Order: sequence, then C-alpha cells, then structure tokens
Amino acid sequence: ICLGSIDKKRFNPELAIELLTHLSAVIAVCLENTISREQLHQLSQIDMLTRVKNRRAFDKSLRQEIARSQREILPLSCLFADLDFFKKINDTHGHPTGDRTLKAVAAAIQYLLRETDVLARIGGEEFTILLPNTEADKARDIAERIRQNIEAIEVANDQGKIVKLTTSIGYASWEPGLIAEESVDEVHRRLMGTADKAVYKAKQSGRNRVRGEHYAKLRKS
Ligand code: GH3
Ligand code: MG
Ligand code: MG
Repeated sequence: ICLGSIDKKRFNPELAIELLTHLSAVIAVCLENTISREQLHQLSQIDMLTRVKNRRAFDKSLRQEIARSQREILPLSCLFADLDFFKKINDTHGHPTGDRTLKAVAAAIQYLLRETDVLARIGGEEFTILLPNTEADKARDIAERIRQNIEAIEVANDQGKIVKLTTSIGYASWEPGLIAEESVDEVHRRLMGTADKAVYKAKQSGRNRVRGEHYAKLRKS
C-alpha cells in the first residue's frame, strides 16, 4: 500500500506501521463479520439433528428447481417419506434411540441420491426428496429403493437391541405444461400437496409401501 499526501508532515516512517495495523484490524473485523453471517445463514438452512436441509431450505430449492424445469422444459419429481409408527419407537426405546434412527434414515436416503437431488427433513419423522429431471417411473424406482434401504436399517437401542423400522413413501411428478399457465407458487403448492396425498394413500393401504398420485388430479384451491 502506498500512501501519499501533499502535506510533507503528514507521514513519517514510524506512522506506516501504525496505519497498516489500524487497517488490518478493520479488515479482520469485516472478515469475521462476513464469516459469522455466512455460518449463521448455513445454520438456518440445516436440520441440526440429521444435518440435511430443513423445510425453509427445501422450499427455496423447490422454487429454484421449478423455475429451472420451466426454463429447460424438464420433468421434476418429489418424494414424501413418513416413517411408520415412529411414535412407538420413541415410546418403546426412548427419544435418544428415536434420534439415532432419524439420523440413520437421513444417511440411508442420502446414500441413494445424486449430487443434484435435494433431501430435507421437513417435520419430526418426515423427509422430502426433490428429484430434478426425473419422471414418474424413475421417481417410483428411487422411492422403492429408499423404502428398501430404510427397511434394512439396524439401529441399536440403549440396551444394544436392534430396532427395525419401515416407511411409507408418496411420489408426485410434474413437467412444464401439465396445467396451463401455472406460476411457480402454484406448482410448488400442488406438487407438495400431491406427494402428501400419495403418502396418505401409502399409509391407508397398509404402510411400508410406495404410492404415487397424479399431479393434475389435485384440485386447485
Ligand atoms: P404413522 O405410521 O401414522 O406415521 O405413525 P407415527 O407414529 O409415525 O406418526 P405420529 O405423527 O403419530 O408420530 C410422529 C412421532 O415422531 C411423534 C414424535 O414422538 C416423533 N418425533 C418427532 N420429532 C422427533 C425428534 O426430533 N426426535 C424423536 N426421537 N422423535 C421425534
Ligand atoms: Mg408424520
Ligand atoms: Mg409417521
């Protein structure tokens, strides 16, 4: 850094270090602020238990992916996984075992996904998965593999006994033009609503299974 002044007395050799010291202190505070802000932002997007995205981050990703799919005319699928009788796992084995189970489920789902897929924990024992550029048939296959992976999970309870669990998964798929002139908000609401309806169907038909629902069937409200 070269500092200059028309005033001959403004600078002398000793002052140089002092100015640099001041400047570096100011820069250090700025950097720390920026890092803290970034860390805070990251934390606000993450579910602290499972370390996958939270609902807020998922909603943001979904909007972005809908807009991208509309631009590039690509299909988009959404899975909704709700663990079966999870309350019973907590009641029987305690909350810590329930928490370990949730972590294992998140890891088992993440293992199957591509880099561009989005996994989030949007409620207590509810996970959503966004599959960009994925049609209904492929979404059903992925949902089925996730269901099998979760069924294979073995979590030990506090006494070392293996706890088993299953999940019901609903899937819904959308592609640009399915319903004319839909806004991003409308697609967002309808895609989530359809996947939610599908998981309800999976529960109704006996749990531990995958069910789909047609996007266009959901009424506009
Ligand atoms: P269903 O098959 O109908 O989905 O039954 P369910 O028991 O899974 O559904 P319900 O909605 O009755 O219960 C969800 C349970 O999830 C209730 C609560 O004990 C548990 N839960 C929610 N959040 C957490 C969490 O962060 N940790 C643990 N351990 N349990 C949680
Ligand atoms: Mg639930
Ligand atoms: Mg449940």
